[in-house]
Amino acid sequence: MSVGVRTLKGVTDSPHMTPEEFRAHGHTVVDWIADYWAGVEKYPVLSQVSPGEIAARLPAHPPEQGERSADFSKNMLADLDEIVLPGITHWQHPQFYAYFPAPTTGPSVLGDMLSAGLGVQGMLWATSPACTEVETRVMDWMAELLGLPAAYRSTSAGGGVIQDSASSAALVAVVAALHRASGGQVRERGANGRFTVYTSTETHSSVEKAVNMAGVGSAQLRVIEVDDKLRMRTDKLAEAIAADKAAGLTPALVVATIGTTSTTAVDPVRVIGELCQANNIWLHIDAAYAGAAALCPELRDSHDGVELADSYCTDGHKWLLTNFDCDIFFTSDRAALIGALSVLPEYLRNTATESDAVIDYRDWHAPLGRRFRSLKLWSVIRWYGAEGMRAHVRSGVALAEYFAGLVEADDRFEIVTDHQFSLVCFRLRGEDAANEELLSTLNAAGELYLTHTRVRGAYTLRFAIGAPQTTRAHVTAAWATIQAAV
Ligand SMILES: *Cc1c(COP(=O)(O)O)cnc(C)c1O
Repeated sequence: MSVGVRTLKGVTDSPHMTPEEFRAHGHTVVDWIADYWAGVEKYPVLSQVSPGEIAARLPAHPPEQGERSADFSKNMLADLDEIVLPGITHWQHPQFYAYFPAPTTGPSVLGDMLSAGLGVQGMLWATSPACTEVETRVMDWMAELLGLPAAYRSTSAGGGVIQDSASSAALVAVVAALHRASGGQVRERGANGRFTVYTSTETHSSVEKAVNMAGVGSAQLRVIEVDDKLRMRTDKLAEAIAADKAAGLTPALVVATIGTTSTTAVDPVRVIGELCQANNIWLHIDAAYAGAAALCPELRDSHDGVELADSYCTDGHKWLLTNFDCDIFFTSDRAALIGALSVLPEYLRNTATESDAVIDYRDWHAPLGRRFRSLKLWSVIRWYGAEGMRAHVRSGVALAEYFAGLVEADDRFEIVTDHQFSLVCFRLRGEDAANEELLSTLNAAGELYLTHTRVRGAYTLRFAIGAPQTTRAHVTAAWATIQAAV
């Protein structure tokens, strides 16, 4: 590619893009994104490339000369169209029903752009006070919107923070729980096989990963059986806790799930919470996907008992209209979190921190540096309002209900589990092989994209609704495509 002349105003010999150059290229890039969203339906949902295909189209070596020209964005976007897009699975396609949705929305991207543009590091209050204070206020709003307990507000002994992911939230919950269970000694002595953690067979894999990372030891992880509705069995949990205590171990943490990844089952949080309180165990609730349901009073039954939890998380980047990464994490015991994570080297000392009057979010998660992520959440909340966010959740639930009705009306298929949120698990009656074949036929055709799970051993298709662009007409068309593929 030739290096054109920098014809824009304000050009200097500097290697950096000037603000005027950024303005021009920025408009071109924003136009490209808007065109992409407007035309996303023309692409096959699932990328059809083979391993190595995209990498092979890139130069083997990085350029020695830069492309500092007025054509920079045009050339970059041409390569994006030609090289990158074939390797994109279109998560924003209205016929994307795989995994869980990972929505991006206009207001969210605008907030993210502003965060990138400001480019602050919000590790300490003192490194950009607004980065901390906007986040604190927006998280208090989220606690209010989701009807979460007062103990999660910044005005209590708890508070909220944005983590990158539910996986990081699980890690933070593990270390806070260990800190509390050990009376602070775990920092010096390590876990040394003394502590136990409890999940169910349906719990997300991030919890096992967190337990491994925190050095609890996977032999100390108790994976509790589930009932016929795939909910953690509290009788088995109670037995496991009692057995561990009798063996001289210290139960430190239970992770309950509201909306499991496989089927959106909801653990009996209230009973689990009572058990935890009776045994002085930290309860973390993973509501990564289904937390958004709590926006709607009529769906809040799913969150019964949440006030018994010591920490809670939901992903803004799943059903809450905010682009990755934005995990909304609350704790009612911020002292345990900070006690577990705070290390204060000389170069971070400052009077605001020492005055104890401010929050330093670096002590609330693994990384030191942090982006101004609350801007995108603030932007989303402002654009939609509580009303608009609720409307999005309700439309997902209604579309799932509609889809389930279509499935039920066809004798060849069966619905496999309850569908109280916007995921429907279904399968062809009979053999797994027919279901595997149906899934691969559908995904190869590119009109829609579904993923699978196993429910009580049976190969099952998951239809996860929630992309903001998905309408009833899309669901109708998707069902016709599925029926035709059998
Ligand atoms: C998706 C999911 C996770 C992991 O989410 P990340 O934010 O990508 O780490 C954890 N738990 C549950 C229940 C999930 O559905």
